[in-house]
Amino acid sequence: MTKWRSRETGSRSARAFLGVLLLLSPLHAQSPSSSAPLVPELQRAEANWAHASTALRAAEEEAQKAEEKVERLRALYARGLVARRDVEWAELEAQTARARLAAAQEVERLAREALARAREYAERAAERERQQHRVARALVRVARSYGQGRFTMSDLAALMRAYERRFGLPLPISAFGQTPTHHRLGLDHRGRVDIALHPESEQGRWVIEYLAQRGIPYIAFSDEIPGSSTGAHIHIGLPSLRK
Ligand SMILES: [Zn+2]
Repeated sequence: MTKWRSRETGSRSARAFLGVLLLLSPLHAQSPSSSAPLVPELQRAEANWAHASTALRAAEEEAQKAEEKVERLRALYARGLVARRDVEWAELEAQTARARLAAAQEVERLAREALARAREYAERAAERERQQHRVARALVRVARSYGQGRFTMSDLAALMRAYERRFGLPLPISAFGQTPTHHRLGLDHRGRVDIALHPESEQGRWVIEYLAQRGIPYIAFSDEIPGSSTGAHIHIGLPSLRK
């Protein structure tokens, strides 16, 4: 009987106590769309959670001790060794401890959820940053020349002959005019040719030199650029137009 009644009172005061904690808690200031610096936000969430976990463990211990004290005093009271009032006082203490425990559990749960959100947000931001770095690096490693702005079939035929003479192998053409890949990327690749050579390889440098000397436009891709090319290659002709 006493137990049920005290539990109910306990949960009422737990709610009141929780309200106070939430008003005081910095958790409230956090929002996923916050533009505050990322790392401090994650650190704050981690610190909040660590603090809440410590408080929860302390509240658990306190509630356990208070419960044990009640049991002890009840036994002593049954043997007539302590006053009824002592038992009642211990019961009140245990009630308060349970209320604090319930509040600490709720605060810990909220802090844990906030931390999970902060981690997810940080991970997404880091991924965006990695993406931007990739693009930036790739852009740095693109060399282009508009030359005379002209590239014809006879230019290509002459290049193929010269390349084969020089290296004893056919020019590795990976895309001749429009291809499904370029179509998928939304690029008009008509009148353009891709050569599967790394611009920094011996053959690649030779081809670029050849094109530069003759004023033939090219773009040398040393890296992948999302939405633009699918890896290192030399594009001959003016840049592809967006369709
Ligand atoms: Zn191309």
